[in-house]
Amino acid sequence: MSKETILIIEDERPIAETLLYALGREGFGTHWSMTGGEGLTWLRAQKPSLVVLDIGLPDCNGLDLCRDIRTESQVPILFLSARAEEVDRILGLELGGDDYVTKPFSPREVVARIRSILRRVGTPVPANEESEGEAPLSIGPFLEDKEKMRISYHGEQLELSRYEYRLLSLLLGRPGKVFSREEILSRAWEEPEMTMDRTVDAHIKSIRKKMRAVHEEDDPIRTVRGVGYALEL
Ligand code: CA
Repeated sequence: MSKETILIIEDERPIAETLLYALGREGFGTHWSMTGGEGLTWLRAQKPSLVVLDIGLPDCNGLDLCRDIRTESQVPILFLSARAEEVDRILGLELGGDDYVTKPFSPREVVARIRSILRRVGTPVPANEESEGEAPLSIGPFLEDKEKMRISYHGEQLELSRYEYRLLSLLLGRPGKVFSREEILSRAWEEPEMTMDRTVDAHIKSIRKKMRAVHEEDDPIRTVRGVGYALEL
């Protein structure tokens, strides 16, 4: 099999079909399994590049299935439909999931995350018009150029450190979503277990200062007391 193949384990037909279409159009091979059991059998036989895994399946729970897969394979796993309280388990050592998207999601977002996971693990991804000179993303007053790892704000480029960039990019990826400090650490830092929660606060402080230097009155980062941070546009 020369194409990078994505296995989708999802029992809701409309969701699966949307993903099959979006992935197929971007040059990925796909296989759809409606149940965990069938998905696991296919995975063992075909060794896909990545698994998109729903949590609520007719014959099992996606979290348990992930644990089973991890006993025999390190294939990247993107979860669908994670509730906030499941996220820590998904991304933690216990389950070893690679990322998640919450329903409802746009197929575009899922494809973008799949590409990003595959790039991270070094799997070649099919070329498409977007990946050749990916256009900067415009999000409110922000413009993010992921290829160059740059973010501009009200038309001015922010001089961000590596972790400042990764933190702000994470918030920009989901405007309005509240990220806990632990979540920020686990998703933006390379060695989250070696890093303290207050490191996040220090980086937020520094990012805010840089944004204020561009635009005094604005503070798009909202502090959620006792929890973490969210981007409000
Ligand atoms: Ca389901």
